[in-house]
Amino acid sequence: MSFINGAVLVLSGPSGAGKSSLIHKVVNDLGECYFSISTTTRSIREGEVDGVDYHFVDEEEFKREIEKDQFLEYAIVHGNYYGTSLRPVKKALLEGKLVVFDIDVQGNSAINSRLGDITTSIFITPPTLSELKKRLENRHTDTQEIIDRRVKMARREIQRVSEYEYLLINDDLDVAADKLRFIAKVARFKKSNEEINEFVQNWEDL
Ligand code: 5GP
Repeated sequence: MSFINGAVLVLSGPSGAGKSSLIHKVVNDLGECYFSISTTTRSIREGEVDGVDYHFVDEEEFKREIEKDQFLEYAIVHGNYYGTSLRPVKKALLEGKLVVFDIDVQGNSAINSRLGDITTSIFITPPTLSELKKRLENRHTDTQEIIDRRVKMARREIQRVSEYEYLLINDDLDVAADKLRFIAKVARFKKSNEEINEFVQNWEDL
């Protein structure tokens, strides 16, 4: 794909890892960014806004978008479909922005296959599984059944941490936010293979 200038930052981690709080904390310090808004078939939670947190659609519409090849990647997470639309990501990358994804391990793997040269990936987690359980329970947004499912999923996801460049332990929010700002700054320096080839070509010719 021809995406000169932009770069990608993937944030993954179990629900309850504090990804959203971290993102809110650093959002104004990251410079020109595009926070990818995913499309999902899961039901809207209290406090969420359609078109801001996600594009909420039904399964039929999601499948129609798959057929039209609208997704850069999509996956089934906790029994619901989640997908990243290609078009706004492409636009943001062409504008030289840092595109930030909050996606799961399957999404990270797909993004790495398609945009690996410009992608920096971070896995965010609380320090322990018991801390994760505590945070999920204190959130009071999900039923015990959903919490159990998320915990089970987290145990599976943690096995794939080695697929990420950085492991960010979110124990103290301020410390984790500082580290995230730092990694995001460096993430912008990644260059696409295309840009590197062009540079080498010009370097030899000029
Ligand atoms: P939640 O329902 O708690 O908002 O998100 C559940 C999981 O889905 C999280 O791990 C989140 O990172 C992941 N997710 C959200 N959007 C996408 C997406 O577009 N693609 C993929 N692969 N995962 C996503």
